Amino acid sequence: MRVGIPRGLFFYHFYPQWKTFFNRLDWEVTTSPPTNKKMAGGGILTAVSEACFPVKVLYGHVLELAGRGVDYIFMPRLVSIEQRSYICPKFMGIPDMLRAQIPGIPPLIDLCIDVSRNEGNLYRELDRWAKKMGLRPGRVRKAWNDSTRATCELEAICRRGYTLGEGIAIWEGKTAVEPGPGDLTVGVLGHCYALNDPLISLGLFERLREMGAAVVTSEMLDPQKIEAAAARLPKRVFWTVGRKMVGTALMLDEDPEVDGLIYLTCFGCGPDSMIARIIEHRVNKPFMLLTVDEHSGEAGVVTRLEAFCDMLRRKRRLELAHNLSPYGEFLYSH
Ligand code: SF4
Repeated sequence: MRVGIPRGLFFYHFYPQWKTFFNRLDWEVTTSPPTNKKMAGGGILTAVSEACFPVKVLYGHVLELAGRGVDYIFMPRLVSIEQRSYICPKFMGIPDMLRAQIPGIPPLIDLCIDVSRNEGNLYRELDRWAKKMGLRPGRVRKAWNDSTRATCELEAICRRGYTLGEGIAIWEGKTAVEPGPGDLTVGVLGHCYALNDPLISLGLFERLREMGAAVVTSEMLDPQKIEAAAARLPKRVFWTVGRKMVGTALMLDEDPEVDGLIYLTCFGCGPDSMIARIIEHRVNKPFMLLTVDEHSGEAGVVTRLEAFCDMLRRKRRLELAHNLSPYGEFLYSH
């Protein structure tokens, strides 16, 4: 059997796990290539206009895989990947949306992943799928349990200072350039599928590095410390990604090595409309909210990044010079 995994949404967190799972069942795995304009254009034309940009891009990847004649497309119905927490509700409906809008789409493997209460639901779902495919439930459960190690491996790679996209490349045995230090350090926040997709983010990581800034993402930090920082909010954030972003922002805000924070959000993102606002109000370091959609242009993003980095460098120079005026304002002319 050949199963296609679209390079979109939680591909960037779980590709190693999902690939390992299917390989353990002796299935061949193929992925769509990195997003290009043609694929994104196909997704934009096919998806409902209300969908956010990353969902439209996902459609492009599914169309690409459908054209390659794969036997199945893996498109899990992600509800919850940890207890007492949820993923954006748009993820739940994606298998149904794809079936409704892409005629002739290959059969979808839409395992429902919901561990909000416990892992029981997930194992029942795996058993149901195993029976449907004529596989032994015990073999499928074992393949799933074995595959979770791959996520730990990916996390360990990222902890060494790599982004998720780079981490996946390293996990697959490719070489990645070791990220060097910069004269600035910028914390970069956002959903993995926006940050690591070169077309959605317009190459945010590379551009910052070209401008001399080292980047820090949540995957490079200790998850327990992120969780502890997020717990400082008076109310627990029940979105998995949102809580991680809040905790990361609060952690980086206290790190003297970090000069500023950038939050990349996609226009029309429901959870980010609240999370980005919470972070903006809580952090003291320079903060830039960068909103992208299918109409965003590279020139606009580059101009904003250059201005942000220039501002951080100027702020650092002034701080080093203790250049405060007696009136309590920075003397920008110095
Ligand atoms: S969290 Fe935001 S960007 Fe992600 S799928 Fe939901 S609406 Fe889209």
